[in-house]
Amino acid sequence: MAKVIAVTNQKGGVGKTTTCVNLAAALAEARRKVLLIDFDPQGHATMGSGVPKREAKPSGCEVLLLEASIDAAIRHVDGGYDLLPGNGDLTAAEVRLMPQVGREMRLKQLLEPILGRYHYILIDCPPSLGVLTLNALTAAHSVLIPIQCEFYALDGLTALLDTIKAVKQSVNPNLQIEGLLRTMFDVRNNLGNEVSSQLIKHFGDKVFRTVVPRNVRLAEAPSHGQAITQYDRESRGSVAYLGLAGEIIRHEREATRATKTA
Ligand code: ADP
Ligand code: MG
Repeated sequence: MAKVIAVTNQKGGVGKTTTCVNLAAALAEARRKVLLIDFDPQGHATMGSGVPKREAKPSGCEVLLLEASIDAAIRHVDGGYDLLPGNGDLTAAEVRLMPQVGREMRLKQLLEPILGRYHYILIDCPPSLGVLTLNALTAAHSVLIPIQCEFYALDGLTALLDTIKAVKQSVNPNLQIEGLLRTMFDVRNNLGNEVSSQLIKHFGDKVFRTVVPRNVRLAEAPSHGQAITQYDRESRGSVAYLGLAGEIIRHEREATRATKTA
């Protein structure tokens, strides 16, 4: 059964998409079957996976509106994972879902029949806490929160944690925090180090040990439609995302062990 991880933070530009694409490829390299869902109308995870977003039809939009099957929309990409592409049409899907009863349950219901096919399903969320993100949080087992260690990082985090709490209290009581991921990290930046210590103080081992450094190769890879492991394997960015994949696989092993001994 797949573990569904929503990669979310309502702030834009914190590394959600970069994390989704590169974590998907790194998990695939560790022989895990992965589905990446591009749930952001910007379609950056789609482009970063080498799929032109305008050609992506059917996409998540048609699937959400029940106009196409999820199988018709999923495709395999060069990074070694499957992609449910997304593009600007997702905005229309969001608007049309809005007035529907049980609107937040749609993605969860669509994923149910395919959970057996994957080890991991990653959802790249848009930078808002709207209906699409709500669908992602309802379908997810856990949330991965990329955080750029800067002054406003902790401020936005409170709103996100409140949303997660509200989702737990209503539609998804078992929702866990997979981890907080420090992204675009620059050790020479004092403020970054300070925010990082604050995160560890508040969230302890919920903060991933892996730190993703600011690395220009990570910013270049999407323009080639490649994951970092394909574009520059030896780069620091690549090493970080392979490390993150290792941590996530370990989390799962530990959880399985814990349920066995319980
Ligand atoms: P989000 O999906 O949260 O909006 P992105 O993953 O698109 O954020 O990242 C925002 C921008 O920063 C993109 O141009 C991306 O290429 C760049 N970027 C992301 N992570 C890194 C990193 N670790 N080092 C350098 N550039 C990065
Ligand atoms: Mg994004």
